[in-house]
Amino acid sequence: AEQIRIAIAGHGNLGRGVEASVAKNPDMRLVGIYTRRSPDQLTPRDSATPVYAMTELVNHTDDIDVLILCGGSKEDLPRQGPELAALFNTVDSFDTHARIPEYFDSVDAPARANKRTALISAGWDPGMFSINRIIGEALLPDGATYTFWGDGLSQGHSDAVRRIPGVAGAVQYTRPIKEAVDRVRNSERPTLTTREKHRRECFVVLEEGANAEAIRQAIVTMPHYFDEYDTTVNFISAEELARDHHAMVHGGFVIRSGNTSPETPQVIEYGLKLNSNPEFTASVLVAYARAVHRLNAMGQHGAITVFDVAPGLLSPKSAEELRREQL
Ligand code: NDP
Repeated sequence: AEQIRIAIAGHGNLGRGVEASVAKNPDMRLVGIYTRRSPDQLTPRDSATPVYAMTELVNHTDDIDVLILCGGSKEDLPRQGPELAALFNTVDSFDTHARIPEYFDSVDAPARANKRTALISAGWDPGMFSINRIIGEALLPDGATYTFWGDGLSQGHSDAVRRIPGVAGAVQYTRPIKEAVDRVRNSERPTLTTREKHRRECFVVLEEGANAEAIRQAIVTMPHYFDEYDTTVNFISAEELARDHHAMVHGGFVIRSGNTSPETPQVIEYGLKLNSNPEFTASVLVAYARAVHRLNAMGQHGAITVFDVAPGLLSPKSAEELRREQL
């Protein structure tokens, strides 16, 4: 069969992850990386992969089956998503949860008008966790859903700490609180406050002469980011930060605790332990690119989400093979 021609729009952590993931899928090949920066600034994993200016995309609409959008959710995707969904089948990982309905609409109209398929908000959360939340609710309607994140490095919280004057470098880890997780796993169905579910831990490098205690206070009282959590702040050297805190670890679990009868509690759990958040997210995007290619060929146009994609469409195997091997 013909290989699916994949291209990448935006070459950050996620874009590099897509390169790695496509290399693991023999039914696909990477035909190009597109960037807003000067193409000669980028180093693709495989030096044979062509790198183009983003403005070249309009000339390549016949050469790409699915374009994977790897721009940031905050600044890039709100503009790139609608624009590129008019020209290509797309997959993205838009993760600003509150804005997903409006983003969906902004991508749906141009995709539909041009008979393209645009899958938005794939990844792990939103993405695989979202699927597991709706399956849990559907199978155990009398119950409660719990999402725990971590242990994981949060980019947004790390950035917030780095912006404090006197901070030279910082990372922030979100950690689920074990007692809370255990109670949920034991079918207690507790009502948990924000503080009871997760704690936060920061590793901070100070600028010369900075006041450690003042910075600790600025972190733990920061509204929205830290004030509702118990936060530990550790001061470390720049060498320690570089040596011990560069991996983009993340993960977590979705647990549905419910009763099928008054006397019968049941628990469903889905968990991820990721050594690279962007590489895993990219792997999800690549599997969904396969589904998008098929759905477009089947005539499903417009914006869709992970909820609209049957699991078999993610697999490189045929429906017949899957029935034989996996049922
Ligand atoms: P990056 O900041 O690494 O990359 C975003 C964009 O910035 C790139 O597409 C690239 O565009 C540009 N860029 C990257 N590096 C540089 C640089 N050195 N100088 C200038 N520009 C640069 O973000 P990530 O790849 O880590 O994440 C992208 C998005 O993925 C996040 O915003 C998040 O929303 C989403 N995400 C979703 C998850 C989910 O579960 N749904 C999980 C993890 C992430 P260009 O090449 O055009 O310059």
